[in-house]
Amino acid sequence: MLDYFLSEEQTVMVETAREIAEKKILPVRAQYDEEEKFPHEVFKAIAEADLTGVYIPEEFGGCAGGSPIMNMCLVTEELSKACGGISLSFASTALGALPILFAGDDDQKKRFLPRIAAGALGAFAITEAGAGSDAVSMRATAIKDGDGYVLNGSKMFITNGGEAELYSVIAMTDREKGARGASCFVLEKGMPGFSFGKKESKMGIRASATRELIFQDCRVPTANRLGREGSGFMTAMRTFDSSRPGVGSQALGIAAGALALAVDYARERKQFGKPVIANQGLQWMLADMATQVEAARALIYATARWIDAGAKRPTMASAMSKCFASDVAMKVTIDAIQIFGGVGYSKEYPIEKYARDAKITQIYEGTNQIQRDEIALALIKEAARK
Ligand SMILES: Cc1cc2nc3c(=O)[nH]c(=O)nc-3n(C[C@H](O)[C@H](O)[C@H](O)COP(=O)(O)OP(=O)(O)OC[C@H]3O[C@@H](n4cnc5c(N)ncnc54)[C@H](O)[C@@H]3O)c2cc1C
Repeated sequence: MLDYFLSEEQTVMVETAREIAEKKILPVRAQYDEEEKFPHEVFKAIAEADLTGVYIPEEFGGCAGGSPIMNMCLVTEELSKACGGISLSFASTALGALPILFAGDDDQKKRFLPRIAAGALGAFAITEAGAGSDAVSMRATAIKDGDGYVLNGSKMFITNGGEAELYSVIAMTDREKGARGASCFVLEKGMPGFSFGKKESKMGIRASATRELIFQDCRVPTANRLGREGSGFMTAMRTFDSSRPGVGSQALGIAAGALALAVDYARERKQFGKPVIANQGLQWMLADMATQVEAARALIYATARWIDAGAKRPTMASAMSKCFASDVAMKVTIDAIQIFGGVGYSKEYPIEKYARDAKITQIYEGTNQIQRDEIALALIKEAARK
C-alpha cells in the first residue's frame, strides 16, 4: 500500500477500527450474515472507541478535526475489510448525520449531533417504491400545519431502518415545485405516526437492516426541518457528494479484504506439488486486483481530502470514487472466488460473502449508471464553459 501520510489521529483511528474488525467482527460475521442479525454489540464497541464521532466537529461531541469525510472513509474501509454488512451500521449513520451537519442550524446540531457522536444510530431516507433513480418523483408529503408539518407516505429500502433513533427524511412540501418543492426533516423513532414495514431479506450485507419507513399523519415540529423549506433536494445532493466516497470506501474495504484472503489461500493451497500462487496465471490476476484496489484507494482519499479542504463542486470526483471502487469491488471479489476454486463457491469459506456484499455498492446511493450520468454531465458542462 502507498503511504498516504495519515495524521497521527487518523493512524490511531485506523488501528482502532482494525482491532474492532479483528476482535469483534471477524468472530461473528458469518453468524450475523446467516441469521440476518443487526450488529448492535459491534456498533456499541465502535461508539465506545469514539469512532462514531470521527466525522462530527468537537463542539458537537465529536473528534473530526479538519477531516470529517476522510476520517469517515478510513473507518468505513477498515471495518468493511472484515464485513461490508456490519460496517454499514457505521456508514449509514454517517449518511444520516451529514444533512444535519450541512443544513442544520446551531440548535439542531446541538440537539442531534452529540447523540450520534455518543452512539445513536442514524439513517437517511429519500427512496420510495416509485422513486429510486428518479428521486424527484417521490410521493411522500410534508404539509405545513401550524408550528409543524404532517408527514404522509412511505420510504423504501432504508438502511438502519427500525434500528436507528434518528432519521433524515426528504419529503415534498410543495409537489408543484418539483425538485424545489422538497424539504428535509429529522424524525425520531417513536414519534406518533412513524412506523416501520417488514425487514428486507437480501443477497448480501445481511447484517444490515433494510426496512420501509411509514408515515401516517406523523407530526414533525418545524424545529426539526433542516434548512429552509424547498431546500431538501439540495441538501440530499450535497449529502451524496460527501457520502459517495464513503460507499467507495465500503467497496474498497470489501475488495481489500477479499484480496488479502485470496493471497493467503493461493500461498497455502498446493496443486501439482507446489502452491497455486507459483502459477503466473494467478500471479497476474492478483497483480491486477492489487493495482485496482490501490487505484480505488488513491481516488477515494484524494476526493475525501478535497471535500474536507472545501471543494465547491465535488460531484464528479465523488461519483467517480463510488463508481470506480464499487466496480473494482465486484471484479476483485469474483476473481478472489476464482482463486479459491471450488471452496470459493462454498459457504464454508468466507470469500463468497465478499462478492454478495460487494454487489450493493454498485446499486445504492445512486446506481453506477446514474454515477456515469453525473460524470458525463460534469464533463459536458466543463467543456461548455471553455
Ligand atoms: C440494500 C439497500 C439499501 C438501501 N439503503 C437506502 C437508504 O438508506 N436510503 C435510501 O434513501 N435509499 C436506500 N436504498 C435505495 C437505493 O438507493 C436505490 O435502490 C437506488 O438508488 C436505485 O433505485 P431503484 O432501486 O428504484 O432502481 P431504478 O431507479 O428502478 O433503476 C432500475 C435500473 O434502471 C437504471 N436506470 C434508471 N434510470 C436510469 C437512467 N437515467 N440512465 C441509465 N440507467 C438508469 C438503473 O441504473 C437500474 O439499473 C437502498 C437500496 C438497497 C437495495
